Amino acid sequence: MKRKKIYKMKNLFNKNDSLGLIKKYSVFPEELALRVYTSRLLGSNPSLVLHGGGNTSVKTKIKDITGEEKDVIYVKGSGMDLCSICPDGFSGLNIAPLIRLGKLDSLSDEDMDNQLKINRIMAESPPPSVETLVHAFLPHKYIDHTHADSIMILTNHKNGKHLVRDALGEKVAVIDYIMSGFPLAKAVLREYENNSELKAVVVMNHGIFTFADDAKTSYGRMIDFVDRAEKYIEEKIKGISLFPSEIEIPEAESRRDSMGRFVQAARGACAFPLPDGKIRRFHVKICSTPDLIAASWSSLAQKICASGVLTPDHVIRTKNKMIYIESVPENDHDLNTLVEMKVNQFKEAYMASLQNYAPSSGINAKETDPYPRLFLVAGIGLVALGFTRKDALIAADIGEHTILAKLRGEAMGGYLPISEDHIFDMEFWGFQQKKVKHLSPGLLEGMVALVTGAAGAIGFGVAKQLLKTGAVVALADLDEKKLVKAQSILADEYGEDLVTSIVFDVTDYQAVEKAFTEISIRLGGIDLLVPNAGIAHVATIEELDPDKFDKVIDVNLKGTFNVMKAVAPIFKRQNTGGNIVVISTKNVFDPGAAFGAYSASKAGAHQISKIAAIEFAQFDVRVNMINPDAVFGDAEISSKLWDLIGPARMKSRGLDPEGLKEYYINRNLLKKPVLAEHVGNGVVFFASGQTPTTGASLPVDGGNSAAFPR
Ligand code: ZN
Repeated sequence: MKRKKIYKMKNLFNKNDSLGLIKKYSVFPEELALRVYTSRLLGSNPSLVLHGGGNTSVKTKIKDITGEEKDVIYVKGSGMDLCSICPDGFSGLNIAPLIRLGKLDSLSDEDMDNQLKINRIMAESPPPSVETLVHAFLPHKYIDHTHADSIMILTNHKNGKHLVRDALGEKVAVIDYIMSGFPLAKAVLREYENNSELKAVVVMNHGIFTFADDAKTSYGRMIDFVDRAEKYIEEKIKGISLFPSEIEIPEAESRRDSMGRFVQAARGACAFPLPDGKIRRFHVKICSTPDLIAASWSSLAQKICASGVLTPDHVIRTKNKMIYIESVPENDHDLNTLVEMKVNQFKEAYMASLQNYAPSSGINAKETDPYPRLFLVAGIGLVALGFTRKDALIAADIGEHTILAKLRGEAMGGYLPISEDHIFDMEFWGFQQKKVKHLSPGLLEGMVALVTGAAGAIGFGVAKQLLKTGAVVALADLDEKKLVKAQSILADEYGEDLVTSIVFDVTDYQAVEKAFTEISIRLGGIDLLVPNAGIAHVATIEELDPDKFDKVIDVNLKGTFNVMKAVAPIFKRQNTGGNIVVISTKNVFDPGAAFGAYSASKAGAHQISKIAAIEFAQFDVRVNMINPDAVFGDAEISSKLWDLIGPARMKSRGLDPEGLKEYYINRNLLKKPVLAEHVGNGVVFFASGQTPTTGASLPVDGGNSAAFPR
């Protein structure tokens, strides 16, 4: 397997590109367009900044509404990604009142927050970066700030200061770690006042600021200094192997089973009950790159997991430490026991440190979440958790850089981060907490749902309602073309990270098991299964071809059984309960002529769902059924059932497509159209666990007395 290349510093400034952006953003000051340009260059290199890390600014003049000229500073909005930032991702502030704050000896968080609010030039601009005062106090027109991996390796070292000076030279000031916000701004200002020739300031255990009077130079200095740091490290660790040399990384296929099982268990062990009785589940991202797998087998793996973050900014994403798993047991019981023990140890250690820290800080330790975000797993690599899918992806990227940087740090003679108290200062700092989402999830947030037959009208409608209420959804179907279409529509609307698709045949048990492992690897497990795949065949018993009958039974009955059987061990490993909502049909209660294969197979599926309700209750898994009738698709995603039976029905009743829909609306008690999203709402209701209900049938048919469940 190929190792991922290490990012090399390269100055990417291109005059034509910068002019292009100035033209594109001609309604904004030219300096701001240039600021956007070089900010994106920084953001495009993940070894400089990751996901909302780092910040940049520019000072300029603008005319206010009365035409009066004002000095302003544009600072990156807090948490904005540099790689994709636009002019409106910056917050403009009147700079004069901010500079005056430099005269103060101290400034409370509340006062700083207030000053950053009242001095904005646009009421609706994003809250500016927590480092705004550093940018305001320094006189330079452009300031760039990153948490570059290589700078962090140098500063997180017992001889860090010496290493930084040795690597970066005279024109760089090095200051001790100090809390972000006003204290850091004052400290940086002091350095500049002592030496106005400075080109950069490195803050120990935090990052680097470069500055200049033009965008190109300030950016160029960042690249230059980080490049020097990288080359310096490379020179120092030349000949030292970061990874165990004799290992051979096995092919991906051979570790899929343990990956799937491990994430199910880990996700389950970290799920926790909320005060309202709901379960807060995490989303998962696995990073199984060759370097991370090699790192997971390193003799330093345990040590790397136990040491702290590269820069305190990361702690809200990853927590300070990681869990190391030496091996994934083959037996499910041992796996669950091991993961639970490790998670409990992590929680206890976290709470113990927090108890020491909390009394002096006013933090209510009881309200904090002590759960890990990163696992380094031998043979698998990195497993990252987050409350949202995006949080998990961010934690994974930061975790990957952290592990590889720590290995280089250890090779440099030892990785030494700052103390836990400083980390807690940042973890619980109000300005940081605003960046992350907290403990009040939406109805299905945190859940992973699988919908079979998702390329059809009902499956698609169900998936849509699940995404709308916060679940992450895997769409499954046999029809790849239609499935891709369904996925792309939903990904456009809800975000590509929240919806995945997989082609498999529900009638083939081995294929189902394989697909469930794949879904677990991609999304962490399955909490909600919606068996919806089905086919119909219209023929009277006399005319029904036995092979056709078998086929319908295969998909509708055996397919439902197969997915239920395959999900059971996943529910058990997760140990957080779960839901199965079977899309049944009104025909189960109210069958019709020439629909024997469909009705009988669906009745069988209905019956086995009731058995599942009885058997799975002991794992807190609920199994409920929805009985829709006359659900038509739309122009985008048609109903396969109605594509099949619609023409004959129209012919026998002398109706056109609209007339047929009208006919079915008038046939139900409420005289209402039945839409796929109504079926989806039924699934959401059951999955949300608002009532202690299992084994129930919910008609979604506009009302039909012959089909009332009994
Ligand atoms: Zn920073």
